[in-house]
Amino acid sequence: MYDQNNVFAKIARGEIPCDAIVENEYALSFNDINPLFETHVLIIPKGPYENILDFTANATAAQQAGFWDCFRQTAKKLGIENNFNIFANSGADAPFFKQSVFHFHLHLVSGSRREELFKAVSEICS
Ligand code: AMP
Repeated sequence: MYDQNNVFAKIARGEIPCDAIVENEYALSFNDINPLFETHVLIIPKGPYENILDFTANATAAQQAGFWDCFRQTAKKLGIENNFNIFANSGADAPFFKQSVFHFHLHLVSGSRREELFKAVSEICS
């Protein structure tokens, strides 16, 4: 069940601040508060979708188009179009990185890897 009070829902409603990069009617991108890479951005839909399956099954065509447009504009604005990764953690027991905020988001990362990444991966692998 989607929790309307999760932190990204509050960011999407403008109730708590974020370091925004691109915003349109349907989506928003902002810097991750705990970056694992030199560039580590999150892209969220403004609508209430828990994970990627929920979003792709239930968001309207306009919401999905707006989300992907926000993704494209963010990569372009950051100048990382040619070198990036995206990932979407789904579920509290996802095998690599676990989902901790249950509002669909893409991680968009680029540039050098931060020390925090190695700590996080070594915890997963230990
Ligand atoms: P996940 O584990 O895939 O759910 O990722 C959640 C991400 O949200 C983590 O990388 C956190 O560092 C990030 N995060 C949590 N709260 C905030 C916030 N208020 N502003 C920006 N990023 C956040």
